[in-house]
Amino acid sequence: MAKSFSRRNFLQQTAKGCIAIGLSGEATKALAGSTHYKYNGALLQTGFTQTPLAYAYKDLAPYIDALTMEIHYSKHAAAYAKNLNDAADAEQINKNAPLEVLLQQISKYSEKMRNNGGGHYNHELFWKLMQPGPERIPETLLSKAITTQFGSMEAFKKEFLQTALNRFGSGWAWLVVDGDKKLRIGSTPNQDNPLMDLSPFKGKPVLALDVWEHAYYLNYQNRRGDYAGNWWQVVNWNYANTIYQQALH
Ligand code: MN
Repeated sequence: MAKSFSRRNFLQQTAKGCIAIGLSGEATKALAGSTHYKYNGALLQTGFTQTPLAYAYKDLAPYIDALTMEIHYSKHAAAYAKNLNDAADAEQINKNAPLEVLLQQISKYSEKMRNNGGGHYNHELFWKLMQPGPERIPETLLSKAITTQFGSMEAFKKEFLQTALNRFGSGWAWLVVDGDKKLRIGSTPNQDNPLMDLSPFKGKPVLALDVWEHAYYLNYQNRRGDYAGNWWQVVNWNYANTIYQQALH
């Protein structure tokens, strides 16, 4: 009973939020029918084309090597973007609406849209969540919330790493903000993500780690744990903190 009231209340708030941020009528309608999350501001309004990287392919070395970055960005991620656009044309999707809106109701669309819409969104987020190393962890609202909820940054990293290792086959490890504004660690298979209505693990992404073999195999071969452990060296914690703060609204 309480749950259904809070969901109805949330949907009313969502509709108001859409009006407040001036989304198109179509996007507003799409969000009002969603049981998930709204986004404020422009930061997370992911488009349908690849954003240029903010660093060179070689800049994440030695943690992620230049050739892996080049193939990952210019081949794998480029293919997701192309196939997403093909699917959007075939399914008459409005490409001016943020991709987040589509992902929140992905169950209405094709398997091709699910795989490539997820693939494009996940990679766009992944690139932004990285910067040249070594690791710098500024004291932020996010770092404080991690310490509060997980006991320490080290305890958090240990749980995140274990989640990345436990994902069988290809997929992603996530830190998200859930509906109660708490941080949660989880994973999704393939190119699914926590915004998707059909994902059992839901929330607004704060950190996203690609654990497909294409993300690490050239340098790390089968050693996913070494790759995931080294990934902290290139995490852009300021960007993570920015999207964390947005996710709290
Ligand atoms: Mn990838």
